[in-house]
Amino acid sequence: MKDQPPNRFSFRISVAAALVFLILFFIFSGLGIYQLHGAILEGKERGFFGQGISSFFPVHENQGTASNKEADEKAHGSDIINDMHLAVFWILSGFICAIVSVFFAVAAFFWERYRLRMSLVEVSRGMQAIQQGDFSCRIHGAGMDGAEELLRAFDEMAATLERSDKARKTLLEIQIRHNTQWIREVRRRQKSLALHKQRLEEKVAARTHVLETINTALRSSVRSLERRTLEITQLNRLAEALQNAKDTSDAASLVVRTCQQIFPSDAGILALPGTQGRMEIIAGWGRDRPDIDHCMGEACPCKKSAADRVSVCGAGVDGCEELCIPVIPREGKGAMMRIRLRQMADLYGRKQAARRALAGSVAGHLTACLTSLHLVDRLRREAVTDPLTGLYNRRYMEETFVRELSRMKRENLPLSVILMDVDDFKLFNDTHGHDVGDLVLQNLAGVLKKDVRTEDVACRYGGEEFLLLLPGLSAEDGLTRAEALRKRVASSPLIIAENQKLGITISLGIACWPEDAPSPHELITAADKAMYMAKQAGRNRVCRATSGDSGAGV
Ligand code: GH3
Ligand code: MG
Ligand code: MG
Repeated sequence: MKDQPPNRFSFRISVAAALVFLILFFIFSGLGIYQLHGAILEGKERGFFGQGISSFFPVHENQGTASNKEADEKAHGSDIINDMHLAVFWILSGFICAIVSVFFAVAAFFWERYRLRMSLVEVSRGMQAIQQGDFSCRIHGAGMDGAEELLRAFDEMAATLERSDKARKTLLEIQIRHNTQWIREVRRRQKSLALHKQRLEEKVAARTHVLETINTALRSSVRSLERRTLEITQLNRLAEALQNAKDTSDAASLVVRTCQQIFPSDAGILALPGTQGRMEIIAGWGRDRPDIDHCMGEACPCKKSAADRVSVCGAGVDGCEELCIPVIPREGKGAMMRIRLRQMADLYGRKQAARRALAGSVAGHLTACLTSLHLVDRLRREAVTDPLTGLYNRRYMEETFVRELSRMKRENLPLSVILMDVDDFKLFNDTHGHDVGDLVLQNLAGVLKKDVRTEDVACRYGGEEFLLLLPGLSAEDGLTRAEALRKRVASSPLIIAENQKLGITISLGIACWPEDAPSPHELITAADKAMYMAKQAGRNRVCRATSGDSGAGV
């Protein structure tokens, strides 16, 4: 503190002075009283004072003479006065000392009071400083003991506070340092955590993206698998349906129906070879169907690479892709599929390549079907056809005979049967060999094929014997036909080498329903008998079962 309270030196000096003057007061007063008492006693002895006084001061009466007494009385009177004066002096001195002492005492009192007040002021200032956090303030005042104790206690308190404040500050600094380190550590860890979090989020985002991609791919795969399963089902149904297809047009309509389901957003046609060798459209689906004439013809890549079943024939219209898919069975006539694919993924999200492959599968099924149909047709044909002559065989004829006869019965129409046999056929074999014999049979078969109508049935009955079934033909007309046939064969020699002709003749027997026999078997037997009659009659002639020789012959 700047303003130090006054020390106690002045107070002590004042107190000491007051004490000294007090002592002097007592001394001087005592001396004065003693002197006064002595004077009073002596004056009493001398009679200077009344009895009243002497009652207060005991006086001892002396025994002397009168003169002496007077002189003594004079001398003693002056001594007494002197003593009185001296006593008064001492008393006055004592009184003055008392006043001075009182003065110093009062001065010391006020001085101490002032000092105490100053000390309290100092304490108040110190407390304000402490209140403001200035624990370094000290009050070094001097004054009264109590005030000093107060000031000292204040200083100790301030020192303690300062120490505790320093300790607290140190502690706070340590804590702050620790906290700062912790904050730095926390911030570092927060940064690290944020970095980890960011990396983690990036990883999670990347993995989520990968998972989403995989998920999308899986969904797409599932969709395409479902679609593929549906397509396989449709293809299987098509294959099953094609197995039961009756003919090519039936197969074509089945294929087109399946294509409508598999390629609903596209268009296509199916063409088969027509009568004049040109491809003719027999079925199709969709809008803006492709035209078979738009095919590139000989320049079509399909025709150059038969191994490639599906080829892109042309760009088509409106940016579409036109597929040219030749359907080439192992045997028989082929077909041509043309599909106009839109240049975009279809309703099911399939790509062009997948759709091309699908079209190829459809074409494959159709190819197998056409092959099968052709084989079945060939087998059926072979089952009823004679391989050497190409005419129907005996079994077919027998089946047909029953059917045709019942039909004729229903329609009430006649039916003629002509049985013919090559004359001296064994001679051809023996002379020119079996090959020439076969040629003779084939030649005769050719004549029969040209001669018969659509509703007639020409068959090889066995060996060199042939049978003509003529539904609706009466016996007269049958005889006419037989005679014309005999003549045509006879006038159609077989050329077996240059300038070498073989003249062929046949003997014919004819039987007619209902005149000659009631049943197929009996009609054939009757015709056979008639033919035998023709042989017997000289060959190269026609005989009727009932009428015998017709008269024709060489
Ligand atoms: P004809 O009928 O006039 O009384 O005399 P033919 O020589 O025709 O008499 P036959 O019926 O005995 O002769 C039939 C011959 O036909 C016997 C057989 O070797 C021959 N032949 C039968 N089938 C075939 C065949 O598919 N090819 C050939 N080359 N010959 C056959
Ligand atoms: Mg014969
Ligand atoms: Mg014969």
